Amino acid sequence: MSKPKVAFFDFTSCEGCQLSKLNLENDLLDILELVDIVNFREAISDHGEDYEIAFIEGSISTPHCVERIHKIRRQAKIVIALGSCAHIGGINAIRNNMDQDEVRETVYGNDKYLFPSIKAQAVSDVVKVDYVIPGCPMDNQEFKRVLSALLTGKIPEIPEYSVCVECKAKENECLYDYGIVCMGPITRAGCRAACPTNGHYCYGCRGLVPDLNKNAAKDVMEKYKLSIDQIKKRFYMFNTNYVNMEEKSYE
Ligand code: SF4
Ligand code: SF4
Ligand code: SF4
Repeated sequence: MSKPKVAFFDFTSCEGCQLSKLNLENDLLDILELVDIVNFREAISDHGEDYEIAFIEGSISTPHCVERIHKIRRQAKIVIALGSCAHIGGINAIRNNMDQDEVRETVYGNDKYLFPSIKAQAVSDVVKVDYVIPGCPMDNQEFKRVLSALLTGKIPEIPEYSVCVECKAKENECLYDYGIVCMGPITRAGCRAACPTNGHYCYGCRGLVPDLNKNAAKDVMEKYKLSIDQIKKRFYMFNTNYVNMEEKSYE
């Protein structure tokens, strides 16, 4: 029986999500027994155009990206956004609130006209995305779970609860008790509360929980006598596009 053909594509990104897959080491050999990888720029020289499953890393930030992602979507039966750049626009979207011409000039200087760009978007802003593997970088354990579900005909599931659930399960002291604003209450779990467990606040790299309870988030801020602006600043690291969408909805 032929194995499903899988392709990995990078768009605007640091390529950290792809690199972290190479760290799967022995697991990678098991994965290769189950699928044929036909396109993976960082690991193989083949550029196969025949694939069923496409993993996309990076955000859509140029007219060429738009053209390319449409082509991939036409070919792939299943498209999976890999990492926060692809899932929510991520770090790339920080520049969306800056003057785009200035951004281009800062990066390319006098050659700025050679590099047309658009605002950094999530892959799902441009084409239909079937599943996501959130995080910066994406979590290898979650990657294996999602791939294994797909290969066994199941629907891949990722946590729908907040980072606080995992943080409390680890019996961490809450950073709010020290006056530190943490995005844990509104961020999708699945990272085993990696940042608060190591003494740092959550930046929200896994995106927001579905059906976000904005009042609960406000209650937390009020309880600790912190301003909404303080948590809003945290949003701009990975979730700029969400803030912009929210502000637009109030216009
Ligand atoms: S999500 Fe993070 S690690 Fe992955 S490509 Fe984007 S910036 Fe790099
Ligand atoms: S430190 Fe952050 S993630 Fe942990 S319980 Fe407090 S708010 Fe939630
Ligand atoms: S704690 Fe927050 S910022 Fe850290 S890995 Fe988890 S979701 Fe990302």
